[in-house]
Amino acid sequence: AQRKEQQQDEDTKSKPLPKGVVLGPDGKPCRTCTSSAAWRAMMKGPVAQSKPISTSNTSAAQAATALESQSDCPPDVEELGRSTWTLLHTMTAQYPERPSLTQQLETKSFIGLFSKMYPCWHCADDFRSWMKGGNEPRVSNRDEFGKWMCEAHNAVNVKLGKKEFDCNKWEERWRTGWKD
Ligand code: FAD
Repeated sequence: AQRKEQQQDEDTKSKPLPKGVVLGPDGKPCRTCTSSAAWRAMMKGPVAQSKPISTSNTSAAQAATALESQSDCPPDVEELGRSTWTLLHTMTAQYPERPSLTQQLETKSFIGLFSKMYPCWHCADDFRSWMKGGNEPRVSNRDEFGKWMCEAHNAVNVKLGKKEFDCNKWEERWRTGWKD
């Protein structure tokens, strides 16, 4: 692993980086800040699979799922993002309707620390700037917190050129399930 990292360091110094590869504070390519496509372009090869996948007894769909779920590699910026939003929205879904003052303070404290420790540094920087720009966490009850998180996620969606999510539907998506 150390050799691989050294090789990567040398490659980084000697070749120009493909578009989309983001460097970390240490000046090295930051995987959790970079999309898998850009990372692959840098490594010039397909994503490594941990185990060979036998397709003899499986359907094409099962094999495709296996390929995805068996790529137990470190997450890129997208996989990390999807997992993190699942955690964050699920936290809002489980947040009390009438939180105590302590719960509200602890929640704000969590968001503050999260915004410093999120392992994609440019995502974390932008998230902190968004909060400072008049979007302090609203944690007075579940619906407020759920909508605030939805707005935070939408700010990233807009930044990435994605469709905004209807925040009136946050609870159906993350707590109750869709109405028929
Ligand atoms: P995601 O955006 O991960 O969404 C997952 C699911 O959440 C969707 O399928 C949808 O059902 C639901 N959803 C979508 N929007 C909302 C919403 N507003 N409210 C509730 N539910 C919603 N990536 C970057 O490339 N650059 C960044 O700067 C960046 N910043 C990020 C900051 C934070 C704090 C986090 C947690 C992630 C960040 N990401 C960033 C990752 C990015 O937001 C996505 O997670 C990633 O691009 C994968 O996107 P996706 O289309 O699979 O769905």
